[in-house]
Amino acid sequence: MPEALLTDASRRLEQAAHYAPISEDATERLKFPKASLKVAIPVRMDDGSLRVFEGYRVRYDDTRGPTKGGIRFHPSVSLDEVQSLAFWMTFKCAAVNLPFGGAKGGITLNPKELSKFELERLSRGYIDAIAPFIGPDLDIPAPVVYTNSMIMGWMMDQYSIIQGRRSPAVITGKPVSMGGSLGRGTATGTGAFYVIETMMKKLGQSPAEQTVAVQGFGNAGSVVARLLFEAGYKVVAVSDSKGGIYNSSGLKIPDIQQFKQTHHQMKAVYCQDSVCSITPHETLTNEALLELDVDILIPAALENQITEKNAHAIQAKTIFEVANGPVSADADKILEAKGTRLFPDILVNAGGVMVSHFDWVQNRSGLYWSLKKVEDELRSRITSEAATIYDLAQKHTVSFRTAAYIHALSRLGEALNDRGTKDYYIS
Ligand code: NAD
Repeated sequence: MPEALLTDASRRLEQAAHYAPISEDATERLKFPKASLKVAIPVRMDDGSLRVFEGYRVRYDDTRGPTKGGIRFHPSVSLDEVQSLAFWMTFKCAAVNLPFGGAKGGITLNPKELSKFELERLSRGYIDAIAPFIGPDLDIPAPVVYTNSMIMGWMMDQYSIIQGRRSPAVITGKPVSMGGSLGRGTATGTGAFYVIETMMKKLGQSPAEQTVAVQGFGNAGSVVARLLFEAGYKVVAVSDSKGGIYNSSGLKIPDIQQFKQTHHQMKAVYCQDSVCSITPHETLTNEALLELDVDILIPAALENQITEKNAHAIQAKTIFEVANGPVSADADKILEAKGTRLFPDILVNAGGVMVSHFDWVQNRSGLYWSLKKVEDELRSRITSEAATIYDLAQKHTVSFRTAAYIHALSRLGEALNDRGTKDYYIS
């Protein structure tokens, strides 16, 4: 899996390199992570026993600024996976013009097996182990799979204890009470909505005509589904890990969101309880949701959901990748041949890291923004990058994914060249 991720990312990079002004030196430099750290984290468990966990932090490239990327707590975490995701973050930050390079971190574990106290000790132990490797001007972690603002708060506190001074800018996505930004929790879904708005306008299509299916009704997917519903799109299907619901006349997304917040699952939504009466629907599997005949499909759950196995069956005209890597490189080719428009993750879900940037800026300036200012800045910046990527795709007659990589690679290539070039040594 991790190798597949890196292979997919490298293939996309090669396609883009054909169109971007990038030197051989810069391409060679981008093949290797700048620094990788593997640590052992001993944790005293609640029953008195000692367990040692393995953790990683990779700083892929820092040419455009301190490195930035989330920390995953997951059984699949390995050095290969973390390196691949750090590589991906390098392109995402460049694609939306953040003054950051790419990084990623993680600990190999099933976090659901640990008590809250054990999780806190593990989180603080991880920071003890990686403290010299991170910092507000060096490398700035954030929450991602199975980590959240509470864990970021513990980590920021531990880093501050080690430094002997409060250091909120070392980590983004922490609680607002500890210096986190307003709007960070909903930033990915909100940013994705702004990208969809921009692209649908460019394509000359109005919301009322569009049917939408959303796979994954979590943090990112539920926010984008609600914003689309409020803007007049007809969201006909949503799902979570337990299954999905469908209504050809459109689902009442705010009711589902409220129900899920109360019951923490959608299972009850589609079979037993009161929302069944508020939202009439049929049930469907996640596989069937992906293959629905809708205008817009939004994978917002996991990697590799659309592969060469099911790409032929996808009927949606347009796909917006809210999840990271939901469509494999092989599936890309099949979809492109069918004429499916696909807007890539490194643009569509970049709202999260953009508001993380605002979080860091606010910590460093000491001046905190209103939610309106956060959302206005996010809208103006992500809309402008989306429009540029749309125009690049038209100019080079390439997919929107290749256009996003061209955009990122042009910025990275320029910075890498300006840093130093072998041309100095050629007389
Ligand atoms: P989340 O855990 O809040 O939500 C994930 C949702 O997907 C849950 O509702 C879960 O039940 C559902 N799910 C899991 N397996 C599924 C399956 N097989 N079919 C359908 N649904 C399934 O996570 P999130 O923060 O919303 O992240 C979702 C995706 O977006 C991930 O790929 C993540 O990397 C990406 N992303 C998130 C952020 C962010 O800021 N939250 C930023 C960038 C990218």
